Amino acid sequence: MKHIDMHVHTFSSPDADISATELCRMALEAGVKTIGFVAHVDLHPSDYCYNGFSESDYLRELDTAESERVRVLRGLELGEPHRYREEAELLFTRNRYDFITGALHWIEDRLILDEKPFLGKNTLGVVEQYYKETLKIVQTCPINILAHMGIFRRGMARAGLAVDFDETALFNSLIRDILETMIQRGIALEVNTAGLRRPEGTTYPTASVIRMYAELGGSRITLGSDTHRRENAFFGLSSGCSLIKSCGFMDYGTFVNYKYVTAPLLRS
Ligand SMILES: [Zn+2]
Ligand SMILES: [Zn+2]
Repeated sequence: MKHIDMHVHTFSSPDADISATELCRMALEAGVKTIGFVAHVDLHPSDYCYNGFSESDYLRELDTAESERVRVLRGLELGEPHRYREEAELLFTRNRYDFITGALHWIEDRLILDEKPFLGKNTLGVVEQYYKETLKIVQTCPINILAHMGIFRRGMARAGLAVDFDETALFNSLIRDILETMIQRGIALEVNTAGLRRPEGTTYPTASVIRMYAELGGSRITLGSDTHRRENAFFGLSSGCSLIKSCGFMDYGTFVNYKYVTAPLLRS
């Protein structure tokens, strides 16, 4: 059995520097059998990837990669979909992808991957705002997967702040609302392992959120490395698998043609 990585960027994202063909080649060696590719679709004018998406180039790139012996799934990572609902609906209804993830990188004009929003006094207020925006995404957007819930820890760690608090205790009803809405709407929770190689040293979301999702009856979970370059391709998948299992899951999944498909978790 081999790994599934549902969050992998290619040249088609302006902030990534590796091709889909090379990633498929590397996947064979890394024990990855299925890659869920994503490209950033960022409509926030201040975003580094703003206007950087070419659908035709991206789909062509994936078509070329598909000849390799790795399963290729076509996805998008849509930034702030609740603020760009019409565009989100359009991307979703044209049926050209296997899945669409919704991602929150910006709260108003503050990039939460950055330290700046966390240099003021009320840092937990920023965290609460992040989750309020996330609730809007899962309530209103046509997405299959909620990407990297809790990625603000990257900005907090950059600001030198502790990140080992538990949002399921601090903002219990808000996190519960988010997860229950996801369950009702069939939106999968992504476990993103990119934070494991950064100073914050944790997945997004953290174990307590994944556990709460399980306790509420959530069953759709995906695993993704958020690969952008060669050096950290497919990083952290084994740890991610173990974590998902330790939170009570027997399987995880992919999306094929917008439908959730389960796969057994690897034994570590
Ligand atoms: Zn992202
Ligand atoms: Zn990403």
